[in-house]
Amino acid sequence: MNLGLSGRRAAVAAASSGLGLAAARALAAEGARVAICGRDRERLGAAVRSLGDGARGVIADVGTPEGATAFVREAQDALGGVDVLVTNAGGPPPGGFATTPLDAYHAALDLNLMSTVAMCRAAVPAMQERGWGRVVAITSITVRQPIPTMILSNTARAGATGFLKTLALEVAKDGVTVNSLLPGFHATERLRTLRGGDWDKVAGEIPAGRVGDPADFGSFVAFLCSEQARFVTGSAIPVDGGEYAGLL
Ligand code: NAD
Repeated sequence: MNLGLSGRRAAVAAASSGLGLAAARALAAEGARVAICGRDRERLGAAVRSLGDGARGVIADVGTPEGATAFVREAQDALGGVDVLVTNAGGPPPGGFATTPLDAYHAALDLNLMSTVAMCRAAVPAMQERGWGRVVAITSITVRQPIPTMILSNTARAGATGFLKTLALEVAKDGVTVNSLLPGFHATERLRTLRGGDWDKVAGEIPAGRVGDPADFGSFVAFLCSEQARFVTGSAIPVDGGEYAGLL
C-alpha cells in the first residue's frame, strides 16, 4: 500500500532510540523527509545515520516547553516546513502517591503534557494554513488503564489526551488529524529500566504472549500519518498486545 507520504516533512521528537526512532524509521521508509531530536549528540548522530540520506538531527530537550518549541522551529527550518508531527518524550520516574514529591509533578507535566502542547502550538497553525497535517502523539496505555506505581505518567498523560482530543476537534475541518497511540510494553530502554531485561517475564503479562516490537509500533504511526487515515482523528488507540482489559 502506498501511504502517500513521499516527500512529506516529518518532525519526530525524542527519537534517538526506542519508539520515536522506530516511528522515524517507518516514516523515512515511506519516503518522508525526517527530522528527529535527542539530547545526546553521539546517540542522535548514530540514529540520524541509521535513517539514511536526508535525515536531520536537532539537539533539543523536550523536557521543557521551550526546548520542545525550539525542536519544532529547527525542524521547520531544516525541512522547509513540517507536515507531520510525532510528539514524544521520555517517561517520568515511577512512584505512587506517598513516594512522589510535589516538584516531581511539575517536571512530569512539562515532559509529558506541556511539551506536547508546545510542539503542537509550533507546528499545527502552518498545517492548517496548508490544509494538510498529521499529529501523532506517543502517550501510554496508562491513559486507559492507570498503573498504580506510575502516578506521574497516569496524571500527565491524562492531561495530554484531553488537550489532543480538543485540538483534534478544532482543526479537523482544516485537513489536520490529531491522534494518540498508547503503547503497552515494548522492547526499549524504557522498559528495560522499569522492568529489567527479562522480556519473557513481561511477555507473560500480555495476552499476545510477547513484548511489542518497536518496528510494528513505528509502522502504525506511519499508517496514521497516511492519506488513507484521513478520516481517523481524535482517537486514542492502544497498541498493547491486548493488555488493556476494558471493554471500550
Ligand atoms: P525510551 O526511554 O526507550 O526512549 C526515549 C528516547 O527519547 C531516548 O532516545 C531518549 O534519549 C530520548 N529522550 C528522553 N527524554 C528526552 C527529552 N527530554 N528530550 C529529548 N529526547 C529525550 O522510551 P520509549 O520506550 O521509546 O518510549 C517512548 C514514550 O512512550 C515514553 O514517554 C514512554 O514512557 C512511553 N511508553 C513506553 C512504553 C514501553 O514499553 N516502551 C510503554 C508505555 C509508554
